[in-house]
Amino acid sequence: MAFGWIDEQAQLRRSAGLVRTLRPRPADSPLLDLASNDYLGLARHPEVTEGAARAARTWGAGATGSRLVTGTTELHAELERELADFCGFEAALVFSSGYAANLAAVTALAPHGSLIVSDAGNHASLIDGCRLARGTTQVVAHADPEAVRKALDTWDGGAAVAVSDTVFSVDGDAAPLAALARACREYGAGLVVDDAHGLGVLGDGGRGAPHAAGLAGAEDVVVTVTLSKSLGSQGGAVLGPARVIDHLVNAARTFIFDTGLAPAAAGAALAALTLLRREPERAARARAVAGELHARLTAAGLEAVRPDAAVVSVRAPSPEGAVRWAADCRSAGLAVGCFRPPSVPDGISRLRLTARADLGEGQIERAVRVIGETRP
Ligand code: PMP
Repeated sequence: MAFGWIDEQAQLRRSAGLVRTLRPRPADSPLLDLASNDYLGLARHPEVTEGAARAARTWGAGATGSRLVTGTTELHAELERELADFCGFEAALVFSSGYAANLAAVTALAPHGSLIVSDAGNHASLIDGCRLARGTTQVVAHADPEAVRKALDTWDGGAAVAVSDTVFSVDGDAAPLAALARACREYGAGLVVDDAHGLGVLGDGGRGAPHAAGLAGAEDVVVTVTLSKSLGSQGGAVLGPARVIDHLVNAARTFIFDTGLAPAAAGAALAALTLLRREPERAARARAVAGELHARLTAAGLEAVRPDAAVVSVRAPSPEGAVRWAADCRSAGLAVGCFRPPSVPDGISRLRLTARADLGEGQIERAVRVIGETRP
């Protein structure tokens, strides 16, 4: 039977307790949300939703075509200027998702004959970029500039690029960006970093991890971001030197063959950036909430990774234990993320908590109490 092998896989998944299911979220969910990536609480901010509505009314519901045909509106151009300016880079290019931005950056900057040095903890979209790229990939130890240096040292070929998340999405730990950049510079290699979890949270007023590391505007650094986390919208972007961005316009397949970002998403992201400029304290507040969550969870005897940004990761005893723990939290009114194999490469299951800037003292207290009371 066609697709018969799918049933075998499904059976294996069921017996391992690893089946994933979709749970539609009602618009008025009563749950306290520590599961989303809405770090600054902007997805429902009236100025952000109005930015989306205004853009849709002005430009239409869809972009109507790929960016090189009809899909580049003045709004896209304005968003690109604003993103580049906010984060301190020469130019930016907007994509329909952060995933597409990562595929673009890695594939376009790692041509045939090149070396890609990839951190073992990188996000799936960077890994897929490595798989699609024509260059050769070497996976190196997590957050280890010395390992990057060693990989570059053995390379006697042409171009080389190191790729890393700035904040790792599972444990919320930060990459040693300045040291990575130094290692790359010694070998004339480029550095591509994915700041999906850094933009809006790290750096001056949320200008991101590369800005915090003194790498903004560097000619050998390229940054990818998503518009779907701190900015509360949807979409992604690549930031970097203008010559790199021009190269992506001409060479990146997920840019050329994809329909442009929906105007509403661009309008929402622009409104969120305006808010970030006006209220720079939101970034620091997200970091403070993360620190507070970590301190209280640790005091309650739970094993939580010290957060470098707004992701707080709590160790669970087993995949089944993690699933049950998250379900019990949900029954008690708290939504938390649940990461387990195969989403986590090291096989350690976790609850993943989002330290939203708009969480109040009472909500933080309630979240920690529920997590403590439901621990398996
Ligand atoms: N990079 C990282 C580190 C992410 O966590 C995500 C989203 N889960 C992405 C890229 C993809 O971004 P998007 O959701 O905008 O496609």
